[in-house]
Amino acid sequence: MLALALALTAPARPAGHERLPVVTTSTDLKSLVEEVGGPQVEVESLAPPTQDPHAIEVKPGQLARLKQAALLVRVGLDHEPWLARALAAAGEPRLAPGAPANVDASRGVPLLQTETPRLRADRGVHLHALGNTHYWLDPENARPITAAILDALARERPSERDRFEANRRRFLERLDAGIARWANTLAPYRGTRAVAVHETWPYFAERFGLVIVATVEPVPGVPPSPATLAVLIKRMRVTGVRLLLAEPYSNESVLREVADGGGARIVTLVPSVGADPAASDYLALFDLNVGRLAEALAARPELDK
Ligand SMILES: [Zn+2]
Repeated sequence: MLALALALTAPARPAGHERLPVVTTSTDLKSLVEEVGGPQVEVESLAPPTQDPHAIEVKPGQLARLKQAALLVRVGLDHEPWLARALAAAGEPRLAPGAPANVDASRGVPLLQTETPRLRADRGVHLHALGNTHYWLDPENARPITAAILDALARERPSERDRFEANRRRFLERLDAGIARWANTLAPYRGTRAVAVHETWPYFAERFGLVIVATVEPVPGVPPSPATLAVLIKRMRVTGVRLLLAEPYSNESVLREVADGGGARIVTLVPSVGADPAASDYLALFDLNVGRLAEALAARPELDK
């Protein structure tokens, strides 16, 4: 039944030119696999772009795709606490962590926030315990990520290595042009201070010169208590931080409370490809976020500093 359904939905292709089935844990990694793999790959993301990436429910149809995947490309560290269960359900040892088909894209990425003692017994289980996992939001990190993807794809399809390398080279040229463009757009606002809801933006902030002074979540993945919010709001008032960076799935009432109480303006940035129709691929994601920030900061120069 399942095989029949897949056969009906799969586009017809000439024999011997089957596309390589790849599953990623995020739409950002999907976009980067597509850049390197081009028409040689067929990629599905387990996480939809509009939900908290740390809390995903993998659907039965996606498990079927996972079982058939030649490669699994994941963010790694403790970004996907839900993945172990999905892998256990898929029951494919070749996709287990440590196996060559399980590609940890964080290898080779210089991580931030690894120095913070995050495994604190008094706080229980939380996220980012091994360093901040939102590293794809520094566009420079697309270099090591696509290098890992290139290696994995070329291992699966050695005869296509040259093609994958050429795809990556063309992508990196567009990436370099983008990085220059985004840095230029945000140059007037370097040093702008902001509060973020979740620690999603440290890589983005470091690349483009924003300063994230506090987060609404006291610990990554832990919602704030009323007392924590009160302290944060007071601190924002005292220090004059007027920019609140939110995600599309941030809690609306918490956002309102912090923005109104702290006197801040909410700017919703898009953390993943596809969370907004304009963020149609990895480079468009940055065009959108940089544009939104620049627009907010240009309209309200007093947000600055
Ligand atoms: Zn996170």
